[in-house]
Amino acid sequence: MKPQIGVLALQGDVREHTAALEAAGARAVPVRRVSELAEVDGLVLPGGESTTIDKLLRAFDLFDPLRTAIADGLPVYGSCAGMILLADHILDAAPGQQTLGGMDLTVRRNAFGRQVDSFETEVTVDGVAGDPVHAAFIRAPWVESIGPAAQVIATITSGPATGRIVGVRQDALLATSFHPEITGDGRIHDLFVSIVRREY
Ligand code: GLN
Repeated sequence: MKPQIGVLALQGDVREHTAALEAAGARAVPVRRVSELAEVDGLVLPGGESTTIDKLLRAFDLFDPLRTAIADGLPVYGSCAGMILLADHILDAAPGQQTLGGMDLTVRRNAFGRQVDSFETEVTVDGVAGDPVHAAFIRAPWVESIGPAAQVIATITSGPATGRIVGVRQDALLATSFHPEITGDGRIHDLFVSIVRREY
């Protein structure tokens, strides 16, 4: 059976995630309403702008239902802005910005700073076999600190940000600072689909 995986389609790179999920063997569907949320086996929170997505979640009456679904165990993969939305705590938040939470993390928005606000590098990810993942970072957050419930699966291994945490897992929740959907490497989506299938 193909799992049905939603892509939160309020803002951000929805099309790229949809294609990557389909390539990973899932049926990808856009999610904009509560009724659509109820139909999915898992959900992707795409990159974009976390403050905008936060506001739109409220405007579409999705914020509380999604928060509850996450707390109840819905598998969710958050990329970049999606990672910010999944974090229990954020640093350098916009005034009034809230997160859905669910992951025992403190995430710093726009953490890499102006000099390297967008860059690409190779990242080794636990659970992804073979070569390192070619990862694109676009005004990305990093994980400033992690609580006992969450697990680090990827860190930066070269350059000024060496050692920074950029991939995390907590039960059925997965988050990366980077955007695997735009570099053509499907292995993070494969990992998420196997989490949705409860195989990994
Ligand atoms: N800087 C953005 C934010 O705070 C995230 C950027 C991204 O998703 N590419 O939401």
